[in-house]
Amino acid sequence: KKQNNVNSSTSETFIKKSLGVNKSRSVISKFVNPSTNNQNHHGKDEVKNESTIDENPYLKNIDPKMVEMIRNEIIECKNLITWDDISGLQFAKNTIQESVIWPLLRPDIFKGIRRPPKGILLFGPPGTGKTLIGKCIASQSNSTFFSISASTITSKWIGEGEKSVRALFAVARCHQPAVIFIDEIDSLLCQRSEQEHESSRKIKTEFLIQLDGAGTNDDDRILIIGATNRPQELDEAARRRLVKKLYIRLPDPQARKDMIKKLVDSENHVLSDDDLEKIASLSNGYSGADMKSLCQEASLGPIRSMSFDMINNIEADQVRPINLQDFLSALKIVMPSVSSEDLNHYVTWNDKFGCSD
Ligand code: ADP
Repeated sequence: KKQNNVNSSTSETFIKKSLGVNKSRSVISKFVNPSTNNQNHHGKDEVKNESTIDENPYLKNIDPKMVEMIRNEIIECKNLITWDDISGLQFAKNTIQESVIWPLLRPDIFKGIRRPPKGILLFGPPGTGKTLIGKCIASQSNSTFFSISASTITSKWIGEGEKSVRALFAVARCHQPAVIFIDEIDSLLCQRSEQEHESSRKIKTEFLIQLDGAGTNDDDRILIIGATNRPQELDEAARRRLVKKLYIRLPDPQARKDMIKKLVDSENHVLSDDDLEKIASLSNGYSGADMKSLCQEASLGPIRSMSFDMINNIEADQVRPINLQDFLSALKIVMPSVSSEDLNHYVTWNDKFGCSD
């Protein structure tokens, strides 16, 4: 799956592996790990070994069909995501660097009392960079990145949910260091209710068991990242296990300016530093995803002022540059997607449970 971005420098091209479509490859054939760095230079034995991975004891008693399915969820990072690609969120970035990235890179130093948390939670409004951070963690720690949304486990693999959870962790153990990113984790680990379906209760129990098991072994290098827009739905058991709870908030003016700058940089524009500041202050309440939509909308301004005939014939370099007026018009069309009421929920939850900044 290739995502085309307005900003080509934001190195956001991820290819989703489709290993399962190759009929000639059976489950017992060799699995080529997409992770580029299989070597551990710091004296720890690597768990993954490409030639023997299918005979790996972790996969004993795991349905091969499930293993294949999980492998289809492996995402290969074609381009590295760096911290610079993520605007703002300095506190979250520093915390992650110290408590997650370094331990994954140097398990020999981060042991005992320095042992990293097994799980972290990224919570906040949609479109604020939670997924981006997950990808960045995987890139920066040279880990295999497993990305799965809770609805895939609960809806797509209906009836096989708990087996798939077990398979997910088993396959991740074979590909250490591994980062398992679970989007919408609230729907997997929500508070128990009377109406709760037997199958979702089983999935939840299995998930908590696996979460407790992951990283029990000293050599285990698996990090679980849960992301949610609805942290208030998580129950106590989930909150306790996802030790670091980081509020991924809406971007501040400086972060918004940084985003606009990066997004328009690859385009022809005449925006001064003052213009960028003006747009940043006028876009109060916009998420990162909203900022991207705003820039996309503004970038169409120069095209909209042309007739179809002109569009058909004009040389690409003759298209007029994007200007402040394009952004002022776009600000009337693209509105912030997060309400202030929703924001209050996050602030309250962060005060109560978050590792606040
Ligand atoms: P979430 O997982 O929080 O819903 P995403 O990480 O999927 O949000 O963000 C959606 C898009 O919005 C990203 O691909 C990126 O283009 C943009 N974006 C969001 N937050 C940021 C940020 N802090 N810095 C840079 N880009 C961002």
